[in-house]
Amino acid sequence: MLCHSESIKISWEKEGIAKLVFDAQDAINKLDTRTIASLNEAVTCLEKTEHLKGLIITSSKESFILGADITEFIALFDAPEEQLATWLNFANQLFNRLEDLPVPTVSALRKFTLGGGCECALTTDYRLATENLCIGLPETRLGIMPGFGGSVRLPRLIGCDNALELITQGKTVTAPEALKLGLIDGIVPDTELISSALILLEQAISGSQDWRARRRQKTSPLQLSPAELQMSFIPAKGLVRQKAGKHYPAPMAAVNAIEAGAGMPRDGALTCETAHFIPLTKTVSARALVSLFLNEQYVKGITRSLITLHDAPKQAAVIGAGIMGGGIAYQSACNGIPAILKDIQPAALQTGIDEATKLLEKQCQQGKLTLPQAAMIRAAIRPVLQYDGMDECDIVVEAVIENISVKQQVLADVEQQVSTGCILTSNTSSIPVNKLAQVLKRPENFCGMHFFNPVPKMPLVEVIRGEKTSDSTIATVVHYAHKMGKTPVVVGDCPGFFINRVLFPYLNAFSRLVSDGADIQVVDRVMEQEFGWPMGPALLLDVVGLDTASHAQQVMAEGYPDRMAVSSPDVISLLADLKRLGQKNRIGFYHHTADAKGRLQKQPDEQLETLLTPLGRTPRTFSADDIIDRLMIPMVNEVVRCYEEGIINSPAEADLALVYGLGFPPFRGGVFRYLDDTGTRAFCEKADRFSALGPLYAVPDSLLAHAVGNTSYYP
Ligand code: NAD
Repeated sequence: MLCHSESIKISWEKEGIAKLVFDAQDAINKLDTRTIASLNEAVTCLEKTEHLKGLIITSSKESFILGADITEFIALFDAPEEQLATWLNFANQLFNRLEDLPVPTVSALRKFTLGGGCECALTTDYRLATENLCIGLPETRLGIMPGFGGSVRLPRLIGCDNALELITQGKTVTAPEALKLGLIDGIVPDTELISSALILLEQAISGSQDWRARRRQKTSPLQLSPAELQMSFIPAKGLVRQKAGKHYPAPMAAVNAIEAGAGMPRDGALTCETAHFIPLTKTVSARALVSLFLNEQYVKGITRSLITLHDAPKQAAVIGAGIMGGGIAYQSACNGIPAILKDIQPAALQTGIDEATKLLEKQCQQGKLTLPQAAMIRAAIRPVLQYDGMDECDIVVEAVIENISVKQQVLADVEQQVSTGCILTSNTSSIPVNKLAQVLKRPENFCGMHFFNPVPKMPLVEVIRGEKTSDSTIATVVHYAHKMGKTPVVVGDCPGFFINRVLFPYLNAFSRLVSDGADIQVVDRVMEQEFGWPMGPALLLDVVGLDTASHAQQVMAEGYPDRMAVSSPDVISLLADLKRLGQKNRIGFYHHTADAKGRLQKQPDEQLETLLTPLGRTPRTFSADDIIDRLMIPMVNEVVRCYEEGIINSPAEADLALVYGLGFPPFRGGVFRYLDDTGTRAFCEKADRFSALGPLYAVPDSLLAHAVGNTSYYP
């Protein structure tokens, strides 16, 4: 053994050839501050080693290095700029020393080689990998950019255009793709990874491979003329502007860094990288995207702990073959859990099956499924009009119309048909599960399972725990949702549960703003372009359906009459009564017409203002800030109330659910992250300005308590 530190071992692999192995004490290798310290010791040891002729860098784990330790990021972002610059400079000097060792070097890579792991591999002269490689620089997806030389070495190795694409999109590539790009030099079987690296090194040592030329390529300026550079950077900037937009500054910072350093040798280009990296760490989006990543890990941890407790269901049934039921059966069958699909109307059943067939055909066209696979999935959905086969089911999802007595009747009937261990769930979007459970003999086997539309696309499932729901029911339903490829978040029972409960204060606020004279298109534009929602409230209502929204609005008003009672007239019920239902009948706040590809496009409707006469509104101009505050304060307040009442268990779960279920802008991280960024005190002062608008704007006590010391929700 040449050197042995906390997470790195170096030994002689063969005479003169050393092998540096990343071997963290945890199950995976990360490039955290401890590993960087170990690498510093390791490189010092190599620099002093006599008779060294070559070096292999590899890992003792399934993967090479998964990347930096993201749990360390927030503290790093909080550090003063000079401290950050010192840290980046130290890490870059270390990587340079590794790159500058006076002997040829090869990385032997497996599976995940991401972020800092990829940057480490880029320092060596050659890279060999196994077939399962997944390599890339995903930093821009976390609101930052490569900071350990990735934006310098990658373009010099694989060309500017390819590197710009990989870095700005945070894209990872497979082994064959990496080979084609020149990011790796060969793909070898796992058992031959080290022996192949040895052969390559011996060729380099003997001079049959020009390793010095390889190294020069990475340490010299980019070999492109000014015209060629322009041809790379102008389109790259255009694309980034269009795709990432102003709320995600990291991809553009990466392009600018690569451009600024293009004409410089390695060390100058690294200075440019650091100069562009540091300001990103101070952006709202970096903090929010990192927070979102950590929230995902937190929720995954909860899911993992629950799914070990109970097996996933093996046979499911879905009652009601409408938009939701058809989607749920399809999603279940696609993920290996066959589903009986029951309806009372043959035509509805046929619609559900046709929908599943259409989705499967699309998967085949996209090459994601073969025809036989699609046929097997289709066969795993069994359409029925009676309760055939219910006794074989481990789980039933009720997805009939949103009517309490119909749902209670269906659930009571199904309970008679299934075995005593079978779990029953309801996909209700607003009816408290405790009310549905009243008709059941085994309420402990029942909970809510709220999917979002369209089911195959939307990642969130709210799992709603009723008063009598047992822990094992929750664990089984979480397992089922997880098996279906969804992210389950367990929430408490109340009208609207978590997501719809916090959505309606926002929609009520929109309704009030319209009555007060706001221009509907301006509101949508502000909420989309300035706040960052995927669609503004008017378009959202058109997508959901004004009739559905109006019905849910009534349910919420009954549930929370103190603050969600709807003033009359109100724009949502007004349009619903006029049968302007939104996209479903092509007219709501907007006209909707299909384009050449069949996608609905909205156009403003000139008749609308006249139709709004009953609201007695006088058109008025509101500033973008006022529009945002008037819509967002009620939502934020309701999210905090849900947390106070234990409807949602943690800020992490709330924020992830908001992004996954409502499309809350990821660059804002969720409501609690938004509150922390605004400052709890500043938020309360803002809400106070709008207090005359009524109880939706009244800040809950727990948030007021945070405001006293301006404390945040996240550590
Ligand atoms: P839908 O009207 O498209 O489908 C309901 C289906 O239930 C119809 O096919 C109908 O024939 C069938 N049905 C009615 N009574 C039945 C019975 N006794 N037995 C069997 N089938 C019966 O409705 P949907 O949009 O799919 O909504 C279903 C449920 O999902 C509702 O509770 C709704 O609130 C909830 N949900 C809807 C959405 C959405 O965006 N559409 C989102 C989340 C949750």
